[in-house]
Amino acid sequence: MCRSSCNTITSVQAVWFFIALLGFILIPMSLAKANDDKASAVLSTSEAPVLPWPWLDTRSKLVEEKQVKEDDFFQYLGTGGILISMNGEAVLADPFFSNPSIADLLLLKDLAPKTEIIDEYLPPLDNLKGLLLGHGHYDHIMDVPYIAKTLPKDTKVLGSQTVVNQLISSIKTFDSINVNPILADYDTKLLTWVYLSEQLRVMPLMADHAPHFAGILVAGGQVLSPLSSMPRDVLDWQCGIPVGYLLEWTSKRADTYRVLYLSSSAAWPKGVPPKIYLEELRKKNAGFDLVLLSAANFVKSANYPRKILQATRPQQVVMLHWEKFWQPFKPGSEEAVRTNEVSEFIRIVEETAPQATLYLPRRMALLPLSPSIKSKSQGSY
Ligand SMILES: [Zn+2]
Repeated sequence: MCRSSCNTITSVQAVWFFIALLGFILIPMSLAKANDDKASAVLSTSEAPVLPWPWLDTRSKLVEEKQVKEDDFFQYLGTGGILISMNGEAVLADPFFSNPSIADLLLLKDLAPKTEIIDEYLPPLDNLKGLLLGHGHYDHIMDVPYIAKTLPKDTKVLGSQTVVNQLISSIKTFDSINVNPILADYDTKLLTWVYLSEQLRVMPLMADHAPHFAGILVAGGQVLSPLSSMPRDVLDWQCGIPVGYLLEWTSKRADTYRVLYLSSSAAWPKGVPPKIYLEELRKKNAGFDLVLLSAANFVKSANYPRKILQATRPQQVVMLHWEKFWQPFKPGSEEAVRTNEVSEFIRIVEETAPQATLYLPRRMALLPLSPSIKSKSQGSY
């Protein structure tokens, strides 16, 4: 439960959170039967909307196939975890492989990274420039302390004040940036970029997080001062201010490549890039190349993902955080969380962004990002 290092949650609140957590997990399980047919239809039958499902299956393909290894690619790492490598420079976000069981969560066991699983599946990160962290819940950042040991020394780590404070004892050797003071919202007049390299920059965005149950966001507090040790059980890992990221890769040989990443769903206008940025894009008749959107609990976020799709006009959309992240990390065995309503998410994307290709990826699935896709983005800076 909340320990002395966490100064935002009282014991009464912690009990509340525990009750909410029970509801969050048990009620969806009880609803699973009713929604079972709908979700499995999306995942396994030919009557489902046309999805490139699955992509390449495992990381072994990445290692074995020279062509893919050297190309620009996106890789889904499960839950909110992603890796994008473009023009030889990569960004990792919310890597999470340990997937503690429901029993471990409900019994408030100390959560520890499963190092063997991480060692097996964490892709090579030699060209990593940035580690981006969306919010402070365990399923987004609890593996970071172990993964940080393998990151190149010049990797910049970006996250909210809460995220940085929770991880500080494991990331103090990196250039870690609390993005709270520079978060851009839809109406901002000032665009603040963090340069991860000369050709790769990122704009942290004010994002959001859908409530888990009955309007309650479990472990929804902030951590305002640095912790001397890691949070331990599920309720210790505090959400903090959720952050989205707008990324731009530039190259002399290609147009600017734009990516929007949201690892939690956001109620309008949160999660949407600044209006002044979008207006500039429209003048250039440009949109986003790749939009990565969490499906977790998305129906509880107003106008999501509709407004974001209208604003970004993406060429490719990838659903993240759609599967049961309390089941072991085993590529190919993923099951959809019934209450995420995968088929409804697909319907909204097809209706709102008919120009986009939509992907529902397996864990570790690879999506080559081809030059022809890059050329569709006409903007530059
Ligand atoms: Zn969360």
